[in-house]
Amino acid sequence: MNKRVSQRLCCVIALLFWGAYAIALMTGHHILANTFSPISAFLVGCSMIIFSRSLKKYGLTVVLGSLSVFFWVLGDIFFFINNDSPFGTPFTGYIAELLYKGTTIVMVVGLIAYVWTTFRNKAVIRLFSDAFLFSVSTILIATSVFTYFTKVSLKYTNFKLEHFVFTMFSMVIIILTMMIFVERGLNSLSWAGVIMIISLIMYGFLDIRYSLLDAEGISAISPELDIFFLLSLNLLGVAFACTTEEKLEAKDTSHQSGKIGVIIDLCIMAVGFVMHLYGIVNEGRFFTLLITTVAYLLLIRIIDANELSQQYLAEKEAEKELLESKMISQKEELQEVTEKLANISNLDLLTGLRNRRGWDLYCEELRRGGISGRIMMYSVDINYFKIINDTYGHAAGDAVLIEVGKRLASIEEDFIHSFRIAGDQFLVVVIDPNEEIRPDRFADFLIDLFDRSFDIESEYIKVTFSIGGAIYPKDTNNLEKLLSYAESARYTIKHTGSASSCTFFDNSIMPKIQRKKVLEQKLQVVNYDEQFELYYQPQVKAKSGELIGMEALLRWKEPEFGFVSPMEFIPIAEEMGIMLDMGNWITKQATRQIVQWNTTYHKNLVVGINVSPAQLRDIKFVDKFLDIMRASKVDTNWVDVEITESMALNGIMNNAEIISRIQNAGLTMSVDDFGTGYASFANMISFHFDRIKIAKELVDEIVENRNARVVVKAITGMAKDMGLHTIAEGVEDKEQLDVLVELGCEQIQGYYFDKPLPADTFEKRWL
Ligand code: C2E
Ligand code: CA
Repeated sequence: MNKRVSQRLCCVIALLFWGAYAIALMTGHHILANTFSPISAFLVGCSMIIFSRSLKKYGLTVVLGSLSVFFWVLGDIFFFINNDSPFGTPFTGYIAELLYKGTTIVMVVGLIAYVWTTFRNKAVIRLFSDAFLFSVSTILIATSVFTYFTKVSLKYTNFKLEHFVFTMFSMVIIILTMMIFVERGLNSLSWAGVIMIISLIMYGFLDIRYSLLDAEGISAISPELDIFFLLSLNLLGVAFACTTEEKLEAKDTSHQSGKIGVIIDLCIMAVGFVMHLYGIVNEGRFFTLLITTVAYLLLIRIIDANELSQQYLAEKEAEKELLESKMISQKEELQEVTEKLANISNLDLLTGLRNRRGWDLYCEELRRGGISGRIMMYSVDINYFKIINDTYGHAAGDAVLIEVGKRLASIEEDFIHSFRIAGDQFLVVVIDPNEEIRPDRFADFLIDLFDRSFDIESEYIKVTFSIGGAIYPKDTNNLEKLLSYAESARYTIKHTGSASSCTFFDNSIMPKIQRKKVLEQKLQVVNYDEQFELYYQPQVKAKSGELIGMEALLRWKEPEFGFVSPMEFIPIAEEMGIMLDMGNWITKQATRQIVQWNTTYHKNLVVGINVSPAQLRDIKFVDKFLDIMRASKVDTNWVDVEITESMALNGIMNNAEIISRIQNAGLTMSVDDFGTGYASFANMISFHFDRIKIAKELVDEIVENRNARVVVKAITGMAKDMGLHTIAEGVEDKEQLDVLVELGCEQIQGYYFDKPLPADTFEKRWL
């Protein structure tokens, strides 16, 4: 049988015994009644003990409840012994009375245990104010009722301390029951709760009556009321049989307990008033009750206000805490994002290398760690990067940068660090504490690294690099300066060579840079017509020396610097992006000149116009060039376009369209400086050039160096096979001329015949 069933069974049997007891008592069967009474109470106690075993929190309360009932059982037994057995003595009577009082005392302890477990966290002031109201009103009303019904006016003259104490215990049962009722609130009131309140209050009032009579020395035994005494205990058992631990638990009802307190307060007032009207409560007591209830009302108001403000404060506090925790988490998030951002901001998103900021931080790290030994810094720049961008599009430009980044990342070591400092500028730093690495060897290593062609969008682009190196602490012991020195060194060779090259900083570089900067400023504002002039160098047939044409060569007569070599200012103009303008001016001058000469002297001379890669790579170049030709009404057979053979050029050579458009317009094309750079015979085949200009470097060697002769022979032979003309550049003496004629070179240009001459001198001498 489970606990619940046995608990309820005990209750039911207890009630039956109570019924039997009541009948026996009313019918005067006292012995029977006195036998049934302890049995009924015992069963109630048992039912509560059974119940208590299934409880956790309220176990003690219920055990105390059952204990109080068992005191009753014992009281009953001694009562029986005293009245209905031959063993009755005044002592047994006294013991019986004490045991009955034990019921009251333990019941009070049980109630206190309940209040303690349930309301210990509640506002103490509220509990006290409730206790105050209920104590005063209970004492006043209970004593009034007592006097009214028993007709015993309380004199308290025979009261001893124990009487006061026991009377107080009886009253405390009612007081605590009321307090529990108020504190739990109406909402949590169940049937079990109602029964429990009724049973306790019933017990309380009967006990008060008993205690007071006893204190006044009057026998309190009354069979009718004794029935209710036992009934109240039975009801307590029933109440526990109907309840559960959850129901015993009071929900948080502090906000409404005040309201119930006020209702009860008013009820007490009303009851007191009615009782006063009927003369149950005398004037003095009524006024005491009135003052108490008013005081209670005021107190409750204050408590409510206080609780509200505390609640408000608690809410505010909770809000604040929530806000603070939100703020903390937001701060953490922010920090995380900031760190991420800092990381990202140190990295170049395109290449994955560290950027300028990353370099600054690295510098800082180096400085903090203390630098020992040597640091080599290489500033790397892609030649004609702008042109690569313009020709192949930005995606291709990016792809080149990514590839450079990959190659640099592939050589990254503890002692080699790479950065992308700006657009197409990279920086390689080599830490060499024991000075084991040769700076020039490392430069060669870098050039080799970049020298493989770039496979971008399935086109092989040849990209060349300018590298400037500077060495710590030889050049400077300031890291920022070191970078600027490496950049300066690079600046001096930018666009000057046809292949990737590296130069190191030395003290002679600074004046060069200074001069370059000044020239740049001057070129920015120069008036071509005033300071620029075309010189013409004759080109002749090798065998006969007959004039076939001339190469137009630009001269800049700068007021401050005098003649500035095109070798010096043309790379600057290219870098500045003004080469197209300058080229147009040159084309205009040269075509006008050839038209004038050919028409005046009835000739078919051909003027060679140098076109730099920077011009050729500009999409608008061909259109503009042809426009100018049309404007000067030049016969296209009179113009030859000289294209510099350089590595950078290889890239555009893929762009066959430009070449074919020039040739379709009727112009011829020559490859300049052939044999020095990278232009290969393969290029000659894919693009149908008309003439090969054998580089001066080869011509210089041709007399003394057999290899040079072999190369020139191969070039002329191949050119002949392909139907191309050949012209040797920089021929300075008869010996060179003879060798060239022997090797099959068709045309000659060089000081041997004449230097580049101003137009009028050329005209005088050659036409
Ligand atoms: P380049 O096209 O190879 O021009 C030939 C250079 O060799 C010229 O130098 C010429 O004066 C020089 N030269 C000719 N014969 C001899 C010789 O027998 N001995 C020596 N030592 N030198 C000789 P220049 O005029 O100083 O031009 C240098 C470079 O500047 C040219 O090389 C060309 O690349 C560029 N350049 C000159 N004028 C123009 C131009 O109008 N447009 C473009 N885009 N570039 C130009
Ligand atoms: Ca030339």
